Amino acid sequence: MKLLVTGGAGFIGSAVVRLAVARGHTVVNLDALTYSANLANVASVADSPSYAFVQADIRDRAAVDAIFAAHRPDIVLHLAAESHVDRSIDAPSDFIDTNITGTFNMLEAARKYWVAEGLRECFRFHHVSTDEVFGSLPADPDLQFTENTPYDPRSPYSASKAASDHLVRAWYETYGLPVVLSNCSNNYGPYHFPEKLIPVIILSALSGKPLPIYGDGSNIRDWLYVEDHADALLLVATKGTPGRSYNIGGENERTNLQLVQTICAILDRLHPRAAGRYADLITFVADRPGHDARYAIDPTRIRTELGWRPSVSVEEGLERTVLWYVENRDWWRPLLTRHGVGQRLGTAKPT
Ligand code: NAD
Repeated sequence: MKLLVTGGAGFIGSAVVRLAVARGHTVVNLDALTYSANLANVASVADSPSYAFVQADIRDRAAVDAIFAAHRPDIVLHLAAESHVDRSIDAPSDFIDTNITGTFNMLEAARKYWVAEGLRECFRFHHVSTDEVFGSLPADPDLQFTENTPYDPRSPYSASKAASDHLVRAWYETYGLPVVLSNCSNNYGPYHFPEKLIPVIILSALSGKPLPIYGDGSNIRDWLYVEDHADALLLVATKGTPGRSYNIGGENERTNLQLVQTICAILDRLHPRAAGRYADLITFVADRPGHDARYAIDPTRIRTELGWRPSVSVEEGLERTVLWYVENRDWWRPLLTRHGVGQRLGTAKPT
C-alpha cells in the first residue's frame, strides 16, 4: 500500500512512518517541519526506496493538491497538527489554522483526488485525533470514554481537534469520502519532544533540576506506548470500517504523581544520582487553567472488531523510554538550546 502520512516528522507520525516502512508499505511523509518536528526521528528509513519526504504545509491547499496528484496514495494517515495544550492556551491561532483549516484542506484535496481516481473503493482517509475531545471524567473507574461519549472539549487544542473530527465525519456523510477516525489517550516513548510531561521529567531529572508537577499531581491520564499506537493506527487505516471511529487506549491509568514516582524509581535503578533519590526533586507548580481531571478510554471496539490490544505495560514502556533518553543525548541536547526548551526544564508547563 502507498501511505501518505502527514506530520510524519513528529513524535507519533515518525513512529507510524518507521513501522509502515518496516512492514513493507511505501510511505510519503508530508510535514511542514514546525518546532516539534525532527527529521532525525525518521533517519532510520530516510534511505529506503520505499520512503519519500515532502516538506509542505497543510494550510497551503495548492501544495496539498500537488502532493496527491504526484504521489497517488491508497491511504492517508492525517496526523499533522499543533499538539501542545499549553501552547494552545498561550497562542491559539496556529491551532485554528493548522488543526481546523489544515484538516479542511486535506479533506478537500482528498475528495478531489478520490473523485478523479473514480471513487476508488479501497481509498481511506484516516484522521488521527485525541481523547481530549471528550472533556474530563470524574474519578469513578466505571466511567470511560466510548466512541459514543458526547464531545466536550475544554482547551483551545481539544476544541480545534473536535472541530476537525466533525469536519471529517461531515465529509463522510455529505460526500461519501471513505474516512476512519481514531481518538487516542496520552502517548509516550522515544523521540517525544521535550515539552511534554514524561520527557520534561526525565530531562529535568538528568539535569538535576526540579521535577515539575501541576497542582497536587492527582490528574489521571491513560498512558499508551507510542509504538503500540502506531500499530493500532496502521490497523485502523487498513482494516477499519469507513465512517467509524475507534478509541485507542493503553488501559494504563495513572495519576501524574504515580507516573513521576515510577520514572524516579526507574532512574534510581538505571542511573543513580550521587546527591540522593530522584523523587526528592519533585515540585508541585501552579495548576493549568481548566486542567482536565481524568481521561480514560474504553477500547472495547478496537479490541473486538480489529483484535488490537497494547503489547507494552506502562512499567516496561517507561523503562524503555528512560533508557532511550539516557542513551540518546545527541537527539535531545540540541533541542535544549532551541525554542526555550532548556530554560523551561524544571519549571516547564508539561501536559
Ligand atoms: P507532534 O507535535 O510531535 O508532531 C506534529 C507534526 O505535525 C510535526 O512534525 C509538525 O511539523 C507537523 N505539522 C504541524 N503543523 C503542520 C502544518 N501546518 N503542515 C504540515 N505539517 C505540520 O505531535 P504528536 O504528539 O506526534 O501528535 C500527532 C497527532 O496525534 C496530532 O494530530 C495529535 O492531535 C494526535 N494525538 C496525539 C497524542 C499524544 O499523546 N501526543 C494523543 C492522541 C492524539
